[in-house]
Amino acid sequence: METILVVLNVDENGNLSKHALETVSAGVKLSKGLSSPFTVGIVGPKPELAAELIGGCGATHFLGVSAEAFQIPRYVTDSVLIENLANKSQATLILAPGSSRWNRVLPGVAHRLGGRADLHVGELKVAEGKLSITKWYYRQRMEAVLQRAHRPWCLGLDSGADAPWQGERGQVSVEILDIPINPAEIRTQVQGAKSPSTSEQTIRPDAELLFVAGAGWTKKQADGQAHPDRAAELILRFLQLSGASLGGSKSLVDLSSEGQSVLPFMTHLNQVGQTGATPRHPKGLATCCHGEEPHVVGWRFINERRAVNLDPNCGWAHGKADVLYVADAFQVMERLNALLEQEKQSK
Ligand SMILES: Cc1cc2nc3c(=O)[nH]c(=O)nc-3n(C[C@H](O)[C@H](O)[C@H](O)COP(=O)(O)OP(=O)(O)OC[C@H]3O[C@@H](n4cnc5c(N)ncnc54)[C@H](O)[C@@H]3O)c2cc1C
Repeated sequence: METILVVLNVDENGNLSKHALETVSAGVKLSKGLSSPFTVGIVGPKPELAAELIGGCGATHFLGVSAEAFQIPRYVTDSVLIENLANKSQATLILAPGSSRWNRVLPGVAHRLGGRADLHVGELKVAEGKLSITKWYYRQRMEAVLQRAHRPWCLGLDSGADAPWQGERGQVSVEILDIPINPAEIRTQVQGAKSPSTSEQTIRPDAELLFVAGAGWTKKQADGQAHPDRAAELILRFLQLSGASLGGSKSLVDLSSEGQSVLPFMTHLNQVGQTGATPRHPKGLATCCHGEEPHVVGWRFINERRAVNLDPNCGWAHGKADVLYVADAFQVMERLNALLEQEKQSK
């Protein structure tokens, strides 16, 4: 029998993120599939409140860590934290959201515990009492199914690996751990966090819609001129009005990084595709993007796909989109923004 530990952190508003709730679902699934008990370990100023939110998840034990030294992401404290939670719960399987915070420490924790770690886990599967995980290799082109006999096994789950856990709140008793840490070992002091303002934040993993801009936005248009400034205006306004996440084709992000005056907010982090990201959103809208295979491979997890392109024979028309609008994206986005403005004003 396995013993499962789910490690979670409370966000700055005292909530559990969608990614954390997905990890809870994964823990519940494993616990049922492997008929094994599971413990939830929560780090946060008030772990009891977060534990109450998931009180009905079926965990056999809740551990909490509220000491201040553990509240901020930092390698030395985070690794000691998971090591202690794992020892306390005698965990053989350790699950954590594959965020930058936990992915950074899981391999080190596995080393300390004499275990193994796998990050970017896409899915957990249980068959005949055995756990398998899936991971993508070779630029997202090959999916591997892996098993390991070695324990403990630390797993950093990619966002979207499971549906977020939903269920009853419940009063549970949380055992607060007092984890000793030598202050001399804390060499990293976190002075604060800097992040782009929400209006500049274009990558929104939880957005309903992925909006992809392609290099066509920078090309000469019917009047013989390129209109990058107008393109930037239309795209930013759409992102503000719709809350969509912004993706880009490789051609467009390459142009941006070559210092050309293109879309100032577009970086390599926005690139979707074989050498870019594989985001997960329920819907996607591609504009001025040809829909070539190395780009579309990044749309694997987008359920409903639509594209706007002047070319009726573009890649999207070849079975890669559910709907292709053969139209000028400048005109479409202008009209779409006007409709969204209208809707906003009528609210
Ligand atoms: C090894 C390898 C890895 C790669 N990895 C990636 C990757 O990760 N991601 C990626 O995106 N690409 C990747 N590529 C590149 C990929 O093959 C394409 O070259 C790239 O996706 C093309 O970008 P695009 O569609 O934006 O530009 P283009 O091919 O230039 O297409 C522009 C499109 O805009 C349309 N258009 C122009 N004006 C308008 C308008 N007013 N209204 C509507 N439509 C308009 C045109 O009809 C055209 O279809 C990779 C290639 C290789 C070889």
